[in-house]
Amino acid sequence: MTLGYSLYYVYLLLSCIVTALLGLLALQRRVNKGALAFACLMFSAALFAFCYIFKASSLSVYKALFWLRTAYWGIVCIPVFWYIMICQYTGNEKKLNKQAVYRLFIIPAITLLLQYTNDYHYFYYTNIVLTRPGSLSTIYLEKGGWYWVQLIYSYLLFFSGYYLLLKEWIYTPRAYRGKLSTFLASAAVPLVANLFYHFGKPFMGIDSSPISYGISGMICVWGIYKYGVFNLVPIARDNVFEAMHDGVIVFDMQNRIVDFNAAAVNMIDGIADLVLGCHLPASLEDYFGISNKFLSGVGQQNEVKITLKGSSVYYSCTLFRVLSHKKQLIGKTLVLRNVTEQIRIRERLRSLATLDGLTNIFNRRYFLELGRKELEQSENKAQPISLILFDIDLFKKINDAFGHEAGDTALCTVARVCSNCLRNTDIFARYGGEEFICLLPNTDSQAAFQIAERIRRSLSTTPLNLLNSSIRITASFGVVGTDIANETDLENLLRLADQALYTAKEKGRNRTSLIHL
Ligand code: GH3
Ligand code: MG
Ligand code: MG
Repeated sequence: MTLGYSLYYVYLLLSCIVTALLGLLALQRRVNKGALAFACLMFSAALFAFCYIFKASSLSVYKALFWLRTAYWGIVCIPVFWYIMICQYTGNEKKLNKQAVYRLFIIPAITLLLQYTNDYHYFYYTNIVLTRPGSLSTIYLEKGGWYWVQLIYSYLLFFSGYYLLLKEWIYTPRAYRGKLSTFLASAAVPLVANLFYHFGKPFMGIDSSPISYGISGMICVWGIYKYGVFNLVPIARDNVFEAMHDGVIVFDMQNRIVDFNAAAVNMIDGIADLVLGCHLPASLEDYFGISNKFLSGVGQQNEVKITLKGSSVYYSCTLFRVLSHKKQLIGKTLVLRNVTEQIRIRERLRSLATLDGLTNIFNRRYFLELGRKELEQSENKAQPISLILFDIDLFKKINDAFGHEAGDTALCTVARVCSNCLRNTDIFARYGGEEFICLLPNTDSQAAFQIAERIRRSLSTTPLNLLNSSIRITASFGVVGTDIANETDLENLLRLADQALYTAKEKGRNRTSLIHL
């Protein structure tokens, strides 16, 4: 046995041991992304090397063929596991649903079938001859049609994986490129060996591919310890992405969906069935108003209300830029956040700030704010404006006779009756205690007087049912009006309305007193 042949056995054995150990190591870390596929890849390579030890020492063509065919189980699986591993490692695993993985094994399965049945069709090898230079058996194989199909398929998978790795490498900041470079380097070794075997002039036809996986594996071991090739960071990032309560959808520059998380699936009908790479689903536009136009801007924000099973749900939709490490725009991320709670709190705060808690009409503070604006507008338009201030007559007696709660009911009734007598453009508020106020834009004093009278009559004729008795409420009204709004201010109108109200009370209550400015 010459030294060269003996070394071939040693290298095969070493390669087998290294790849098998690496497979076990990766298997232990299979929770990490791509680790299980890497383990399968290494076990396939170990099987490849293991069978080649026996193939090389076979004395008959049948034995050599047996070991070659057994090795083929590993040979055909290597490119598939490589491609799956790279897809998972580079975050492209959504390309690989169960069916897609099964489909990847179709050609390898046919290859194995043709291998074992070659004697019947010679479609894989057209001729098989055992040669035994020195102490090493090699089989001279004339390649048939399917051999090239399998070879091209293997190269396709290999280069697709390599392309994904390179793409990832380009977009990864320099500081984090180490482990990707390790992958690229380790993958290059078997490729060179394979290309040399098929298209070079291998020594005595010896296939160095099974040895190359051992070398490739050792580069990986180095990478694992130096850079943590199978470290937890990508998994942790993925877990955070998937566990987020906000729906996240990532678009490429052509507005094709390239990724989305579990929360987005729960928010958007039909998104789970989408194939990555497809365009904007109709449900996104229908419910969330996310159109291509929306996606063409960045920093855009939408707030949408969706009715789900009768209740309103609010979402904020925000578009963020995805920048490459060279700060080039390479995509957009849409974040959908359920903001129902915030909107409810905001509405509640707004209502607390603007509405009276008992009667649900505007409160005094908000009336003054709106009133000043209204007066300003009337000044600008040179329109008349009037103010009605009214106070319930002898209200204390109602409280005393029927209790405070009954008094509250009476206040709500007054607010309702008065609201029904006013226009939408009038500003009506509870001014305090049992006093109410109405600002009537574009209304002169005479018209305001008529409106006050209408409210007064309406109040006095609306029965108020309290406990077992029905009572009637009256109120006294002070009205002030001006034909030219710019000759006064709100404080002056309020003072005069109060004066008029005082006069109405003095004259015997349940009446309206008017001051014309
Ligand atoms: P007048 O005709 O002169 O206005 O007599 P009045 O009894 O209506 O006037 P007074 O100012 O003496 O009494 C007002 C009462 O209104 C006293 C107060 O307890 C009652 N009041 C004020 N705010 C509320 C409220 O929110 N709920 C109830 N139930 N009563 C209120
Ligand atoms: Mg009163
Ligand atoms: Mg009062």
